[in-house]
Amino acid sequence: MLTTLRRIVLEFSKNAELDSALNRMVEQIKETINTDCCSIYLADHVKQHFLLVASDGLAERSLGQTTIGFTEGLVGLVGQREEPLNIANAQHHPQFIHAPEVEEDELNAFLGTPIIHRRKVLGILSIQQKQARYFTENEEAFLVTLSAQLATSLANAEASVLINEQDANSHWTKALHGVAGSSGVTIGEMFVVYPAVNLTTVPLQRTKTPERQLQLFEEAVTKTRADFDFLTNKLQGIIADNFLDIFDMYKQLLDNANIGKEVAQNITSGWTAESALKQVIDGYVLQFEALDDPYLRERASDIRDLGNRLLLNLKKLNIDEHQLPKEFILVAEDVTASMLAQYQHQGLKGIVSLEGSNNSHAAILARALGVPAIMGIEKIPLSQLHQKDCIVDGYSGELFVQPNEVLLREYQHLITQETLLADKVKRVEKLPAVTTDGHTIELQLNAGLSSGVEHSKNSGAVGIGLYRTEIPFMNRSCFPSESEQTHLYRQVLSAFPKQPVTMRTLDVGGDKSLPYFPINEDNPFLGWRGIRITLDHPEIFLLQVRAMLRANVGQGNLEIMLPMISNIVEVEEATRLINQAYYELSAELDFSQGDKLPRPKIGIMIEVPGVIYQLEELANKVDFFSVGSNDLTQYLLAVDRNNARVSSLYNSYHPAVLRALSYIAKQSARSSIPLSLCGELASEPAGALLLLAMGYDKLSMNAHNIAKIKWVIRHVDFHQIKMMLAHVLTLSTSKQVHSYLNEQLEQFGLGGFVRAGM
Ligand code: PEP
Ligand code: MG
Repeated sequence: MLTTLRRIVLEFSKNAELDSALNRMVEQIKETINTDCCSIYLADHVKQHFLLVASDGLAERSLGQTTIGFTEGLVGLVGQREEPLNIANAQHHPQFIHAPEVEEDELNAFLGTPIIHRRKVLGILSIQQKQARYFTENEEAFLVTLSAQLATSLANAEASVLINEQDANSHWTKALHGVAGSSGVTIGEMFVVYPAVNLTTVPLQRTKTPERQLQLFEEAVTKTRADFDFLTNKLQGIIADNFLDIFDMYKQLLDNANIGKEVAQNITSGWTAESALKQVIDGYVLQFEALDDPYLRERASDIRDLGNRLLLNLKKLNIDEHQLPKEFILVAEDVTASMLAQYQHQGLKGIVSLEGSNNSHAAILARALGVPAIMGIEKIPLSQLHQKDCIVDGYSGELFVQPNEVLLREYQHLITQETLLADKVKRVEKLPAVTTDGHTIELQLNAGLSSGVEHSKNSGAVGIGLYRTEIPFMNRSCFPSESEQTHLYRQVLSAFPKQPVTMRTLDVGGDKSLPYFPINEDNPFLGWRGIRITLDHPEIFLLQVRAMLRANVGQGNLEIMLPMISNIVEVEEATRLINQAYYELSAELDFSQGDKLPRPKIGIMIEVPGVIYQLEELANKVDFFSVGSNDLTQYLLAVDRNNARVSSLYNSYHPAVLRALSYIAKQSARSSIPLSLCGELASEPAGALLLLAMGYDKLSMNAHNIAKIKWVIRHVDFHQIKMMLAHVLTLSTSKQVHSYLNEQLEQFGLGGFVRAGM
């Protein structure tokens, strides 16, 4: 049964034509169950009815014609109850409706199961039989399992059909769903880019002239290196240097020791350059794709990108950029980092990639460039998107193809409001974050991931509240050396002279991992992460801390922050190692008399719920606390922050999260320890006001949110927001919290921020 089930689902998902896939499926189910009829009805949520789309057993003329209202007939009942309905004699059931055109007079037994995707009924699968009998438990279980498995394939298939059937006059538009890769909203024409060459289609061929092939390959490598230099130059000055390390990594892979060497060996053993390249790249891609780790799996796309670029140069072809429209939304099966670099400056307004996630290099680069992006969108034939208008909602990960007038107007209004607000708030960028009645809070920068320090220095922030050190470790093929790290950290520290710069020690594991340090775990977010890794590898930790301390010489503004702390011993051990690094370095460096190596403050991130109950003891061990609300939310609510299936449950305005945040603030004040928050919540107007009212001393956020949050703070009264907080803490659901906060922002004259989705 299981094999049959798999075969049916697989065949269905492979068939590009929805109609023929559905027809084939009803035939197969009817045959497998050995019954007289199998049918599928699809839900139309606008017209509120089910449409009979495929059947083996009912009259052919009724296909695509017969409809059953959501509250009508047995099919409607299955949809309403959202559970299987097994009836021995359907004709006698009170809700049975006689529809003569389907010709089911002889059919008595009925079993219907709903096809549900993400809580939404997409359709009904039914089987019928002449003999009046209940279908067996096994038959019912088979149909339920099949419906559940079909739901995802059907949701994808429907997405594709939907693009062509969009009704321009209707007052709604369905969206294709992906992952929000880079925030922002844009409207424009889609331009589909197909790879000019594709290594997967290269046939394997032998050669009699390996020397010539070797020479061709070497020329292609040289040209490819030059291409990456060109792309790096194109982006230099636009985004921070560490984002460009991806192209350095590509170049390293081209080296003799890596891919380059393996390709050369294959050529020498008699393969053409193209064949040798294909063999090596395919091998690497397979290895990466088989990995459990999501970050490493994404690297398969980087390798493919590199392989295709080499192939292009082997064939001595150029990327054709001539027919690009003036402004466009770049769409491709797999938008890669080099594709982005290629099209940057040429009217690139947005990005839609069928493959990839927010870990992809394309997404990381898109965030650095401030271009809205959707990654990993539902599978649709690309040709159906080319030159069609669309709305890219990079906040929600939704793509609206050929949106109707109403939606278009709504989004245009949103973009206008966003632009107007952005211009307006810019005016307060350099002013302090102070309420109308004189209460101040410090706003700091989150740096390292989403924007370069050089470009954020003038954002009006008071130093850096969170410098994420992972990126320079990620885009490489081995751990960076002490001097490389020192050089990088010095750049960051010196960009903010006399202002605090809080550097977080390496926080890999969970969803972030290093290509050269794979971690395979069933439960990575609860596993070897952050401080747990670096304490197990003091050589990595000490090297990083030494680099930070060395960079701090002559600066004195370094603060060190420890991620993922879950107990006191970790703090003690980390502090001991920091002290060790401090004393060793002090002894090594030759200070002139009286001078000393500056001692950094040490703080911890509050992101594991358990530590909330040990704040007092922890306060005695460190100099400051900083709440990582992104992780604290995921751990308090047990919701994976990157899992689209449970994303509706991930909410930092959940009363439990807000009460925990308020408790942390009270306990910190009691221990007189400085408290900041550096998760996404700090950059949301309502979130920032609640945190200010709770008593947080500092909020840390991405550069482009500083002015907005300053504006909001400068337009409220501290007393007012204390009252708002008091009421919020009495509410029981996130929904109540959201609607109350929206109401309050309207009352404070800040409703524009809610409406613009900022
Ligand atoms: C957090 O968890 O809130 C945080 C700031 O750290 P990261 O998002 O890097 O895990
Ligand atoms: Mg975190």
